[in-house]
Amino acid sequence: MQIPNVLCISGFDPSGGAGMQADIESCAANGTHALGIVTALTAQNTRNAVRVEAVAPAALEEQLDVLLADCRPAAIKIGLIGSAGQIPLIVRTIRALQVPVVCDPVLRAGGGATLLADATAAQLAADLFPHVTVITPNAAEARRLVPAAANLPDAARQLGERAGCAVLVTGGDEATAQVEDWLHLPNGSTRSWREPRVAGHFHGAGCTLSSAIAARLARGEALADAIGNARAYVHTALSRALQVGGGRLVPGRFA
Ligand code: PLP
Repeated sequence: MQIPNVLCISGFDPSGGAGMQADIESCAANGTHALGIVTALTAQNTRNAVRVEAVAPAALEEQLDVLLADCRPAAIKIGLIGSAGQIPLIVRTIRALQVPVVCDPVLRAGGGATLLADATAAQLAADLFPHVTVITPNAAEARRLVPAAANLPDAARQLGERAGCAVLVTGGDEATAQVEDWLHLPNGSTRSWREPRVAGHFHGAGCTLSSAIAARLARGEALADAIGNARAYVHTALSRALQVGGGRLVPGRFA
C-alpha cells in the first residue's frame, strides 16, 4: 500500500500540541505519511515556550540528504525555522523536489514567547517565501510581517505581491465571534472563508491547519479545495480538543 509522503520541516514541542507532533498527526489524519526533519527542540508546555534550541545546519543537511536519497515527498510543510543558517538548505530542498510547499511562518508562541528573531523573520520572508506555494501566517504574524497593512485582506495582498506566492492569513487568533481567513492568489484573485468560532484557547491550531493543507496538496487537491477541506478538519479537531495540561487545549486530531 502506498500513500503520499509529506516532508515536514519543523520544530519539536514536547507537549505534542504544536510543531512536529501536530504535523505528523495532521498528515496521518489527512491520509498521508509524514517524513519529519526537526529544525529545533523547544522547551515548552501548553501554556508557553521558554526556549528554542536550533539544530545545526550541517546536521539538518545530513538528515535531508539521507532521507531524500530514499523517500520521495509529494508536498512539503515548513513550520518553525531554527536559525537563518537553515534557510538556504530548505530553499535547496524545495528547488530539488519541485512539489507544492506550505510555509507556516511561526514567529511567536500563542503564550507570547518569541520563537523567531525579527532579523530571521525578515530573512525568511525575503529568501524563502518566493519559493513556496502558500504561506499561512495568523493575524499577529501577518501584522508583524507587514506592519503598515490596513487590515487582514490588505496584509494578504501585500505579502503576496512581495513574495509572489499565495497567502492565507488566518483569523483564529483574533477576538472576533466569527473566524475569517483570507486567501490572496498570485493572479490577484482573493477568497475568504468564515465560520463561527469554536470556544476555547488552543495550542497548535495553526500547525494542524498548515499540515492538513500540505497533506491535501500531496493528494492532488487544488489549493482552494485543500484549504477548505483542511479548515473543516481543523474545525472538527478543535471541537474535540484535548486537555493535555493546564494551559491551552490541544486539537483532537484523531477525534
Ligand atoms: N512551537 C512550535 C515548535 C511550533 O511549530 C508552533 C507553531 O505555531 C508553536 C510552538 C506555537 O503554537 P501556538 O501558537 O499554537 O502556541
